[in-house]
Amino acid sequence: MTKIRLTNSMTHRKQEFAPLDPANVRMYLCGPTVYDRAHLGNARPVVVFDVLYRLLRHVYGPDHVTYVRNFTDVDDKINAAALARKEAGAAGTLEALIRERTEETIGWYHADMDALGALRPTHEPRATEYIGQMVEMIAGLIARGHAYEAEGHVLFDVRSYPDYGALSGRSVDDMIAGARVEVAPYKRDAMDFVLWKPSSDDLPGWESPWGRGRPGWHIECSAMGDALLGPSFDIHAGGIDLQFPHHENEIAQSMCVHPGEGFAQVWMHNEMLQVEGKKMSKSLGNFFTVRDLLDKGVPGEVIRFVLLGTHYRKPMDWTERKAEEATKILRKWYRFVVDEDPSIIPSGVINSLADDLNTPSALGFLHTAYSSGKHAELRAGLELLGFDIESIRNWVGDASALNEDDRDLVAKLVYERHQAKLNKDFGKADAIRDVLLKAGVELQDQKDDVADWELSPDFDPAKLEALK
Ligand code: AMP
Ligand code: ZN
Repeated sequence: MTKIRLTNSMTHRKQEFAPLDPANVRMYLCGPTVYDRAHLGNARPVVVFDVLYRLLRHVYGPDHVTYVRNFTDVDDKINAAALARKEAGAAGTLEALIRERTEETIGWYHADMDALGALRPTHEPRATEYIGQMVEMIAGLIARGHAYEAEGHVLFDVRSYPDYGALSGRSVDDMIAGARVEVAPYKRDAMDFVLWKPSSDDLPGWESPWGRGRPGWHIECSAMGDALLGPSFDIHAGGIDLQFPHHENEIAQSMCVHPGEGFAQVWMHNEMLQVEGKKMSKSLGNFFTVRDLLDKGVPGEVIRFVLLGTHYRKPMDWTERKAEEATKILRKWYRFVVDEDPSIIPSGVINSLADDLNTPSALGFLHTAYSSGKHAELRAGLELLGFDIESIRNWVGDASALNEDDRDLVAKLVYERHQAKLNKDFGKADAIRDVLLKAGVELQDQKDDVADWELSPDFDPAKLEALK
């Protein structure tokens, strides 16, 4: 069985992955707050951890992996978006408008992430469907002395959990000094965070032992992870921006309510998609949505290719040049794989992914499969990485599918020319080149490697006859 190694943010080390139960490998990814379209940065964790999901399914079997990604559908930003609609004259109660807004956003999210080739997770729980479990968890924390009620709020007492800060490597005192924490008179400690807060009559709220209110954001993931994956599971993932405080707080809640359990064994964090050195984010206003790109005609597979071109633990930029390059490569490869039977996945692709999801290296092995004429392997590797050949067909078009014999002939000749050059038989190499050029094959020489090639629109295979 392939050995997978993953960098665990908790230990800062790349470690061999050993699932608690290989018959049910369990992963959780923090999902979106559904008030607006996802921007390209939000798509990065989705695509990266989709590759992890696919790798785990490949290694442990498709029926032996459970993947949970939540929807946060109770949030002040959602309320504000619905209120703005109501004030703009929309009909219906605020509650109905909130429901409408979250439903609509979830629909957009599915359409956009589907377009990027991301598989739907096994479970996509909505926070509002797990309020009962959240209330129960909060009550458990109070009973164990880790939380307290104050003025209709319930707060987690960070000083009651000595390991608080282990994930981000900070002590509570450092955090207080460095962070902009909300100071509130009812908090015992500035770092204490909200588990439950009161709701005014016009806002969504649920009855609880502490009055009508709504959950804090952190308890949502702890409760949904617990309900769907159990108190201990394998992988918890999200963007690095969630490491503190969100994940730190999830750990505190889950570990304190289930002492003796381990919660997540491996913590994985993707780095940020940036714009001119700054995190792409709604609040900075430096964002564009996945839908903006799709509407501009950038295919989902191209977006996916660009996102996978950088290792997930490195910051990255989106550039038009990267998108153009990815378009050219996928267009070129498509011609060779469209009629291939996905056979054996190149071992280099698997090994790269198993080495802490090294997607740029995996793409490098696809280039190798292409240039060595292993087209069935190229197709299998593309599919493992989540590139759907049928979807590529939609934008590349059938015209570029090439007759298999012609294609093999061109690939063979390009390879023969390469061999001739290696043998210093430059006469032969030049003769092959001349015929290829006349037939409409455009060659791009590569340093120390087989030339890349493309067919011009006036490609004429009959002109290759001379070399057959
Ligand atoms: P949010 O809706 O802001 O909680 O974000 C949803 C997911 O997108 C979280 O896993 C974030 O860590 C991630 N995320 C947000 N902005 C970026 C970014 N610029 N680059 C990569 N991931 C991001
Ligand atoms: Zn979360």
